[in-house]
Amino acid sequence: MLWSTLGKPSRWGVVAWFHALTKDRVGAKNLVWGLFLAAAIAVAGWAIGSSTDPTGDELTTAASTTDAPSTPSTDKAASPTTSSKAEPLTAAPSVTAASNPLFSIPSYIAVETTEPSSSTTAPEPTTTVHSTTAAPTTSPPTTSPPTTAQPTTSEPPTTDAPVTSTPSSTVAPDSATTPLALLTATGVPVAILEATNAGYLVRTPCSNTVEVRGGQAIGPVSVVLDPGHGGPRDTGAVGPNGLVERDINLQLSRAVEANLAARGISVVMTRTGDYPTLLSVRAALADQLGAKILVSIHHNAPVYNPCDGPGTEVFVQTGSAPSARLGGLFYESVVAALDRFDIAWTRTADAGVLEVHLPGGGDAYGMIRRPTTPTALLELGYLANGPEADLFATSEYVTVASQAVADAIERYLNSDASGSGFGNPARVFTPGSAPGASKCTDPALE
Ligand SMILES: [Zn+2]
Repeated sequence: MLWSTLGKPSRWGVVAWFHALTKDRVGAKNLVWGLFLAAAIAVAGWAIGSSTDPTGDELTTAASTTDAPSTPSTDKAASPTTSSKAEPLTAAPSVTAASNPLFSIPSYIAVETTEPSSSTTAPEPTTTVHSTTAAPTTSPPTTSPPTTAQPTTSEPPTTDAPVTSTPSSTVAPDSATTPLALLTATGVPVAILEATNAGYLVRTPCSNTVEVRGGQAIGPVSVVLDPGHGGPRDTGAVGPNGLVERDINLQLSRAVEANLAARGISVVMTRTGDYPTLLSVRAALADQLGAKILVSIHHNAPVYNPCDGPGTEVFVQTGSAPSARLGGLFYESVVAALDRFDIAWTRTADAGVLEVHLPGGGDAYGMIRRPTTPTALLELGYLANGPEADLFATSEYVTVASQAVADAIERYLNSDASGSGFGNPARVFTPGSAPGASKCTDPALE
């Protein structure tokens, strides 16, 4: 009892005295000196002891601090929402930022090491990333999102800026002798425009025409997957937890690609890394590859109304029965799969399979309007909503969502099923413009 009621410095004094007694073998002189020193430390410790260790038992204090059984996850500080129903799904363990700094460090480490590596390096600029490519009404997703419904979705841009180096459209490669497209030595998919003596003229992600020596021939394929956004200027939405849309779009697309490949379904991605790719190039690649479908993967912003289930939206091509059927199958499969996650979802009133029209008519979104390939643009959920962003950062989400998307694709290819989510009138909306060719920097191709 006495031991525990002494302040920590007082105990140091006792220890020092005992140490001097047992260690000193020289003589009484040093023993007296040791006693004096120990007494001095003990007195000083008595004076300050109670203020440095108010509980009187640091072992108990430490244990209760690390366990932190009733405090919420520290990364909730970044979330504007109060719901934490997603807790079991988020990978970061619940560790309090305790008063003892020794135990605040592990919570930091845990958060950073348990989320997907490509998406936790959030430090993209927080400057209106999504609004540069999206609706004028969008507030920056990294700040507190509005709790009331916004007029329309912010996804995705309608047009590329004018292309400065439009490739010749007269050099359609002969598929009998020339591949339709290449995966270059650096893994970038490019459409082949013309064979040359030294290799091929290809269309780059920024729609430049350059010559490459060769690569892995690709196409024709059944499916082209389009991970939305890419590169430093086109991040897409950013979640309150720092998850960046261009990253989760790519991560999920890669998972879908692997899932389809395992089913024997041929698939090519429009972008394979973090670099920009013009919408016109994405669409043209799918058309050139003779794809049966083009699927654009996105995660939405801003935040809409609370809802019991996911606010998945699928945009389809006006007047296209194949596109509508594809959209219905996506909606049905993805909503059923995500609904198992009991989190604070958000949605618009007209969520479902949608045509989105410009005020003057025509499909509003460039990724829907440009391809002749039957296309659907999938907004799986709202990255701007904290609980959804936390879910999207988990590997379980990527597994479940990629399976659902692949299921819908396989069902489209192998059945006449039409899915669900239809019935809403067309939405009228004018999206913002995507970063254009003038701000597009090609990745290294070789
Ligand atoms: Zn997007």
